Amino acid sequence: MSEKETKIQGQLLPDKTGAEHIIEIKDLCKSYDDNQVLKNITFYIRNNEFITLLGPSGCGKSTTLRIIAGFETADSGIVNFENKNLLNVPAHKRQINTVFQRYALFPHLNVFDNVAFGLHIKKVPAAEVEERVQKALTTVGLAGYGKRYIDQLSGGQMQRVAIARAIINRPRVLLLDEPLGALDLKMRKEMQIELKEMQRELGITFVYVTHDQEEALTMSDTIIVMKDGVIQQIGTPIDIYNEPKNAYVADFIGESNIIPGTMSKDFVVSFGGHTFECVDKLFDEFKTGEANPVDVVIRPEDIYVKEEAEDRINGTVESVVFKGVHYEIMVKSDNEVDWMVHDVDPVVVGQRVGLTVDPDDIHIMRKSEFSPDPDGFGVKAVEAKEKDAKEDSDNA
Ligand code: ADP
Ligand code: MG
Repeated sequence: MSEKETKIQGQLLPDKTGAEHIIEIKDLCKSYDDNQVLKNITFYIRNNEFITLLGPSGCGKSTTLRIIAGFETADSGIVNFENKNLLNVPAHKRQINTVFQRYALFPHLNVFDNVAFGLHIKKVPAAEVEERVQKALTTVGLAGYGKRYIDQLSGGQMQRVAIARAIINRPRVLLLDEPLGALDLKMRKEMQIELKEMQRELGITFVYVTHDQEEALTMSDTIIVMKDGVIQQIGTPIDIYNEPKNAYVADFIGESNIIPGTMSKDFVVSFGGHTFECVDKLFDEFKTGEANPVDVVIRPEDIYVKEEAEDRINGTVESVVFKGVHYEIMVKSDNEVDWMVHDVDPVVVGQRVGLTVDPDDIHIMRKSEFSPDPDGFGVKAVEAKEKDAKEDSDNA
């Protein structure tokens, strides 16, 4: 190894923004038999950030986490921790701890001894164990619970014990694999906020795995959207929601109207039989004057229901469902395009309406393998496509 390489070992690498990367992952590939579950996974994790791997079941989230933890090895690719390759570092020597959905607590030990377990093994002096356990229990909101037995705890409290046990070793990075999956909705929402606060307080990097898009949006500094072992997009929750890279991400992150369209010049897009002003320029590879195909995404809350008018998308209300805060309204336009709209003012089925959209709420995406059919509509079109693909592969 050259002198220069020796020098940069064990340091955090800053990126263009000046942020330091605690972990860098490059071209990770992993197969089980013929099934390639990770395909060139590449990303970095900034020091002290809350980063989330988000995607449907089976997309490779847990496999990625297990490789970072050292419970699994990749077929190829690199995992660097502070610029040091982790390949030959065993799991227990990494400054990384994992919290699983299944808490794996010891039922015959009380809360204190569950949390203290790792410290006892390391023969940490009793006074220090006492202090560290009490501090960890306070951090997870369980001060005073030390003498309770595991079967006297609720699911949420058990998960807190599991987190206390993981942070007691003072890891630099905490990996959390769907840790709230077993909790009911109300407890999950509370724990989401508390986990985020814990992460800030502890100053530890959290790598979180979930298939729940709302959870990811609520908690994360950065979200990585995965599908079938491929990263689809990396960004802040706001980026991912407002600027989805393709129809898959747009559909997975919240409800959307995803409509095939064309652009022949900057700031103008045609879809659903209408032409609209937008705030996007042609993509670099597009030619001015040609009908370049694009996908258009419009969130249902960005469409407004007004009266019919010549320059609006006119149509008939087909259904109205009350969703608590807003109504979910389906409108079929006169040229047979279905629109999903969220509005707080009720309308009635059969009512004639005119829809409007602001230019900066029209988001243009490149065509992708996830694009809707030429006459397809949003969510349904993507789902139908996935179903077709599944049937094809089942028949293969
Ligand atoms: P996720 O956590 O996103 O739900 P996983 O990373 O657990 O997905 O799994 C990704 C794919 O790898 C799935 O198809 C799963 O069945 C497969 N898989 C995971 N672990 C193993 C294993 N030990 N042996 C064989 N296949 C596995
Ligand atoms: Mg998993």
